[in-house]
Amino acid sequence: MTYEPIIGLEIHSELATATKLFCSCPTKFGAPANSQVCPICMGHPGTLPVVNEKAVEYMVRTALALNCKIAEITTFDRKNYYYPDLPKNYQVSQQYHPFGKDGFLEIKTGNGAKRIGLDNIHLEEDAGKNVHPEGKSVSFVDINRAGIPLVEIVTKPDLRDVEEVEIFMNDLRNILLYTGVSDCKMQEGSLRFEANISVRERGQNYMPPRVEIKNLNSFKIVLSAVKHEIGRQMKMLEKKETVLRETRLWDDEKQITRPMRSKEEAHDYRYFPEPDLPPLFISQEEIEKIKKELPELPNARKERFAVDYGLTEYDSNLLTSSKEMADFFEESLKVFNQLHPVRNSPDIASGRTISNGAKEIANWLIGPVTRYLNEHNISIKETKLTPELLVGITTYVHEGIINQNTAKNILPEILEKGKSPEELIKEKGLTQVTDEGEISRAVDKVLQANQQAVKDFQNGKTETLGFLVGQVMKITKGKANPKIAGELIKKGLKNL
Ligand SMILES: [Zn+2]
Repeated sequence: MTYEPIIGLEIHSELATATKLFCSCPTKFGAPANSQVCPICMGHPGTLPVVNEKAVEYMVRTALALNCKIAEITTFDRKNYYYPDLPKNYQVSQQYHPFGKDGFLEIKTGNGAKRIGLDNIHLEEDAGKNVHPEGKSVSFVDINRAGIPLVEIVTKPDLRDVEEVEIFMNDLRNILLYTGVSDCKMQEGSLRFEANISVRERGQNYMPPRVEIKNLNSFKIVLSAVKHEIGRQMKMLEKKETVLRETRLWDDEKQITRPMRSKEEAHDYRYFPEPDLPPLFISQEEIEKIKKELPELPNARKERFAVDYGLTEYDSNLLTSSKEMADFFEESLKVFNQLHPVRNSPDIASGRTISNGAKEIANWLIGPVTRYLNEHNISIKETKLTPELLVGITTYVHEGIINQNTAKNILPEILEKGKSPEELIKEKGLTQVTDEGEISRAVDKVLQANQQAVKDFQNGKTETLGFLVGQVMKITKGKANPKIAGELIKKGLKNL
């Protein structure tokens, strides 16, 4: 029998406002414990909340970017529960009239475009944090995080496999970054996921009981947890066992999901309208104003990259898949065009000026730079590479001072230490050898030492030329200009 997973996600993202949702405490990450608190976010009796206007603006911006219908009137509700990090004993959220409804995000999968429905997106306040120092029999409470505005995005159960989940998470994070509403730093808890998973027989329409997995704090953990949970449920169905509706946690050490102790779930939140906050009216003009100020979103940028810079769809896709990378590309191009205005050429068809640097810079970013970032699991912002340094590399290669291979070899040092290519070329004596006399001597040596390859070449096996050039590069420690080396070898072979 074949099975079909049904997956929905709930995403919490901290909004990048300078102050909290209902008080003027700062939201800076990493401040000393309980240094960013006041009577309002500590839940002292008699205090009253006031909604942060910036948080409302960011909320509307997010809802618009995610194609939601914006409610003209929204209300806040209390979600009641007790926990040490929640001094008010309730969290202000939106249960009945959220900011945005019926949105969608279109993802591109291997099978084409697919719309993932968004049930609703709403505003709520974050809770504080319980801290359990390792090896000590005490716990601490840090209220700094309590009251930081969160946007919660609830998808419809439209995702069907781990690949779709990965593309969706990446695209959503990108939109949040592009709109500037969140820094999405998962290691700082700015972006958190929960997944609802069930599995049914393929071709059926019923909705089986769903299992909720809480506290998934990195893309990797989400994907591992979803994959494991799908497998677990399929095995149960194979054995004709019943999958229960329950909340489970991800055990990263054992790489399995395990049920939450019943004490940890079974909430009856007793939602009721927040009496201290009046309903919020958002006028059509306000919505229009925020819509107009909406920054360029990933899909639009992708299209612009293809048209303006003459890049392929594949290249523009990769460059805009992260905002950091797309920004870096455009910054580099600016530096490039200032340095090499002559290398710009008008595109005859459109009459626009297309920078020749675009393809060159794109190739470096998509190729060796991205490879390095993936190997080290970091973003371009976490390296010491600057647009100036990158353009420096392309310039040295273009002018023939170093060859492509040498440039690739020194790239890690530039990324790690921020050293300029000029410095590294001097330090390591890497200048490309274009002096024919010197290359000629290396060619002679290579032809002498590789008689068999020479014979093969003379017998018509021309592909041995590549091997011989490789040998010359080896002798010259990679510094010979490969084009000149190839020509001299051909000349040498003729004269033998
Ligand atoms: Zn406060």
